Amino acid sequence: MTILDDRRMEILARMGVQLWRPRLQQQSGEAHPSSSGDVPIQAACPDSDAGQSEYAGPGMAARNQLESTIPEAAVPETAVVSLEEIAEAVRGCERCRLHTTRIKTVPGHGNRRASWMFVGEAPGHNEDEQGLPFVGKAGQLLNAMIEALGMERSDVFVVNALKCRPPGNRDPQADELAQCEPYLHQQLALIQPRVIVALGRISAQSLLKTGEPLGKIRNVIHHYGPQNIPLVATYHPAYLLRSPDQKAKSWQDLLLAKSVVNRNTV
Ligand code: URA
Repeated sequence: MTILDDRRMEILARMGVQLWRPRLQQQSGEAHPSSSGDVPIQAACPDSDAGQSEYAGPGMAARNQLESTIPEAAVPETAVVSLEEIAEAVRGCERCRLHTTRIKTVPGHGNRRASWMFVGEAPGHNEDEQGLPFVGKAGQLLNAMIEALGMERSDVFVVNALKCRPPGNRDPQADELAQCEPYLHQQLALIQPRVIVALGRISAQSLLKTGEPLGKIRNVIHHYGPQNIPLVATYHPAYLLRSPDQKAKSWQDLLLAKSVVNRNTV
């Protein structure tokens, strides 16, 4: 066990992920069947996802409606020069009703050479005030997840499916998501991450144009957008704060995303 592994164990423990350690040092001297030497740090994952949906939120009828009403990007995608220009365009954006209630736009933030792009749902109160994504409690957990993967927040790029806060944190509407999506396409074209992690049901359903529950689409490698970038969906950090028993599954998803990044690294 190296110092780095110790640190990662500590961060995973802070995420609330239950860890299986080899039992080699235990009195019985019996190794756990799932452990192989001292390298893998394996999250304990419940067996089944069946029936798990992330938010109580809209029922099946509403989800099916979301699926059938999500249009393809409603706004032509213009030539892009820089991330600053996208942020500038977002600042002046009036494509949907959210511009009338927002305080600040939240175009996204991070490393423009990132291999990982995390896509959340929409800014909340703190993000609306600061103009930055994931700066509240959910953001702290996101940071812990990123650190558990061996990175810093400054290594990755973080955006939301919506760049403006829906009033009262209501769910994003299908037309709002469609109007905002071209900005994400432009950001992806510039950053070209190796993997996208969709955080939460709404982000995942909107990016994948599906009404399937998150339990069915997580832990699978999908592909997204004009660049066909690998995408892995997982639970939203805000949900994980409320349901910490799901963190192990989220860790499983993140390891899948990491395998995609490593696969593409020669
Ligand atoms: N939740 C999100 O989906 N995005 C944020 O930026 C903050 C909370």
